Amino acid sequence: MGASGDNRPPFLGLGGKNPAELFGALPTPCYILDEAALCRNGEILSGVAQRTDCKILLAQKAFSNYDLYPALAPFLAGTEASGLYEARLGSEKMPGKEVHVFCGAYREDKFEELLRYADHIVFNSPRQLEKFGPSAKKAGKSVGLRVNPECSTQEGHEIYDPCAPGSRLGTTRAQWEEGMTPRLLELLDGLHFHTLCEQDSDALETTLNAVSQRFGDILPHMKWLNFGGGHHITRPDYDIARLENCIRSARQKWNVEVYLEPGEACALNAGYLAARVLDVFRNGNTHIAVLDASAACHMPDVLEMPYRPPLYGAGESGELPYIFRLGGPTCLAGDVIGDYSFDTPLREGDLLLFGDMAIYTTCKNNTFNGMALPDIFVLCSDGQLQCLRTFGYEDFKCRLGSG
Ligand SMILES: *Cc1c(COP(=O)(O)O)cnc(C)c1O
Repeated sequence: MGASGDNRPPFLGLGGKNPAELFGALPTPCYILDEAALCRNGEILSGVAQRTDCKILLAQKAFSNYDLYPALAPFLAGTEASGLYEARLGSEKMPGKEVHVFCGAYREDKFEELLRYADHIVFNSPRQLEKFGPSAKKAGKSVGLRVNPECSTQEGHEIYDPCAPGSRLGTTRAQWEEGMTPRLLELLDGLHFHTLCEQDSDALETTLNAVSQRFGDILPHMKWLNFGGGHHITRPDYDIARLENCIRSARQKWNVEVYLEPGEACALNAGYLAARVLDVFRNGNTHIAVLDASAACHMPDVLEMPYRPPLYGAGESGELPYIFRLGGPTCLAGDVIGDYSFDTPLREGDLLLFGDMAIYTTCKNNTFNGMALPDIFVLCSDGQLQCLRTFGYEDFKCRLGSG
């Protein structure tokens, strides 16, 4: 093993060591969170925040391993939540920092409780603003409305495009005209948009122009503008200078405070999933390795997004001499991680290390097929490995019945 590039992200944190050397004693499958990589991301983000005087929040939807929040907290203004539980987690685990929440629709029976945890509450529609805005305001909260600038900047990821026709996410200008009243406008402290996914700052620039066109008359009356997430800021080739220009020009043009709430960028390339080969065989010309890790259960975005996760020492299919199709042990035919090539044939018991496994994994995995949840370890900044959590039969069973 040792294809080129393994000493760079997403495997930079291994410090040039072999995965078997570092993680060979760990039970598989397991996630390994990389504290030093998280801090490197934090430094990049806080650099942007300092140079532009904006505020950056961790979108917990992508990464919510709260044991690592203290490592990220010095770099961030707070957390962003998708609802009650994430808001509570943010307020408990990043104490003293801001807690923002956006939800497609809030529940009446939980709204009082939400007000205990969140300080910025973003509504999705004029009707939700009308229903809950006054009590949020009375509780001293900063109140926002998510807008839909109707500006799609990505291709191929329809399920990640909140600007697609018929979208339920955000208020279009037409919906605004229909639903907003002077009394509702008075409740608003800020506007929020979230339309990007793994994108560079040129897409943000395009989006900001659309926001300016559709809501430019409203923004001078606002205190803040939240640019949402989907900014791939910590990717090595991301254009940070252009992002900073976008932030500065929004601040100057509308005299607003700017928030960013990246999820991925906070924990990009900051974790691994270690797995072992359980079986190797051939079906016709296809060489197959069945792993103890599952795409469907342990890296669901591989199927949902979909994407091909980086694998230490492996090449694209056809790049190196031995090609294997890697799949999980579940009964789902499509539980396939991808086709990878290797210097030597895979064998039973081999350790494989997938990269960029901190985001949308530990917070999105499941026990479909009765699969065990991978244990979670931390590779601490001092090089020590620490076990955060192990999982067993009870974690599978407890969600399913009376006990
Ligand atoms: C998903 C989401 C984010 C984070 O998105 P990333 O792609 O992980 O950066 C931020 N804000 C909102 C409202 C979201 O739905």
